[in-house]
Amino acid sequence: RLHIGKIKTGCSEFDEMMGGGIESQSITEIYGEFGSGKTQVAHQLAVNVQLPEEYGGLDGSVIIIDTENTFRPDRIKQMVEGRASELGLELDADEVLRNIHVARAYNSNHQILLVDSALDLANELKDSGRPVKLLIVDSLTAHFRAEYIGRGTLADRQQKLNKHLHGLQRFANLNNAVVLVTNQVMSKPDVFFGDPTKPIGGHILGHTATFRLYIRKSKGDKRIVKLIDSPNLPEGEAVIAVTKDGVTN
Ligand code: ADP
Ligand code: MG
Repeated sequence: RLHIGKIKTGCSEFDEMMGGGIESQSITEIYGEFGSGKTQVAHQLAVNVQLPEEYGGLDGSVIIIDTENTFRPDRIKQMVEGRASELGLELDADEVLRNIHVARAYNSNHQILLVDSALDLANELKDSGRPVKLLIVDSLTAHFRAEYIGRGTLADRQQKLNKHLHGLQRFANLNNAVVLVTNQVMSKPDVFFGDPTKPIGGHILGHTATFRLYIRKSKGDKRIVKLIDSPNLPEGEAVIAVTKDGVTN
């Protein structure tokens, strides 16, 4: 086993709760309602992973499997400026964007296939000086939720999600990379699913995702992030801010 890498989030309370940052060789799931900040955290990690280790990064590049078309280059630029001024570094936003490889997933099958493409790209970049150290799937579950409606198909859905998660875990291991997946939960009951306020994929995801984080809105730009499940860390809560500069204290 290679030395576990950690990506800092931009918020020290969040990092402390995670034992120093988001770990490689694991899947971290962040779940919460629409608008709670899951995609913001994902964008921030896509920036931070590129930083040198002494600044909380892994000198890496990133692959984003974007299933909801929510990747925004302009938001990355804002966050790059935020990090640059916070850390007193000169960062080139265009270069940061070039190290973010975004693939749009059109359905759940395509999403699963894109993990193979991600493995290929990671192999290509392995000795480039910018190895892929972060794979994001945002959202992990949206296509699955939309495609598998009704009780009869739930077992199929779980089986496919499970296979997908194994592929992601393999990616994390082979590349000593962080894998971050997002999962939307509903605020209100939804006619199709048992307990819609729990993340879909519930059981299986619960056993596969190593770190589970629940994020919810708080006052103003604050968000509460709760560590629900971890193999080696106590449960905990962190207050983060999502501002123009990105994820901060
Ligand atoms: P989701 O959990 O659905 O992925 P998002 O990560 O897209 O939610 O969060 C959207 C929220 O993030 C917005 O409602 C806003 O509060 C915040 N946000 C997005 N962009 C900015 C920005 N440029 N400056 C400040 N806050 C922002
Ligand atoms: Mg989102």
